[in-house]
Amino acid sequence: MKDYDVAVIGAGFGGLGAALELARGGASVILLEMLNYPGGCAGTFNKAGYRFEAGATLSSGLGPGQLFRRWIDEYQLDVHSEILDPILDFRCGSERILVPGNREDLIKQFSKGSVSKE
Ligand SMILES: Cc1cc2nc3c(=O)[nH]c(=O)nc-3n(C[C@H](O)[C@H](O)[C@H](O)COP(=O)(O)OP(=O)(O)OC[C@H]3O[C@@H](n4cnc5c(N)ncnc54)[C@H](O)[C@@H]3O)c2cc1C
Repeated sequence: MKDYDVAVIGAGFGGLGAALELARGGASVILLEMLNYPGGCAGTFNKAGYRFEAGATLSSGLGPGQLFRRWIDEYQLDVHSEILDPILDFRCGSERILVPGNREDLIKQFSKGSVSKE
């Protein structure tokens, strides 16, 4: 059995981030996950031929200088992101709420009442 400096339990964002930073600091790290896919609450899994998001629907930290952007750049990860506008499109029956990505537009839209009928 191999020895490691640190064992990190769980490959959710927390465990992945801890393992990455520990390894970057020079520690030998083993990352243990009980499921057969990484990501935890922010993972994606397949069942009965369909693809499901386990939880997270929004990603933050991708702006210039922010944590995920820094990791993607530093480790040259094959991750591509595109900021959508609107960032959210809520639909319920015939009602629809579009949520713009820009804060000022968001305030303006909600101030004037933003629910539209299809
Ligand atoms: C429905 C939903 C929507 C969300 N939406 C957003 C969003 O839009 N934006 C956002 O930023 N966040 C969102 N979140 C929150 C975000 O997903 C979580 O905060 C984040 O993923 C938690 O990461 P974590 O590493 O702390 O824990 P987890 O993701 O829970 O990871 C823990 C991991 O440990 C594993 N594990 C547990 N016990 C053991 C063991 N004994 N041995 C081995 N492995 C083990 C688990 O299988 C899991 O993979 C959402 C969460 C949910 C549930």
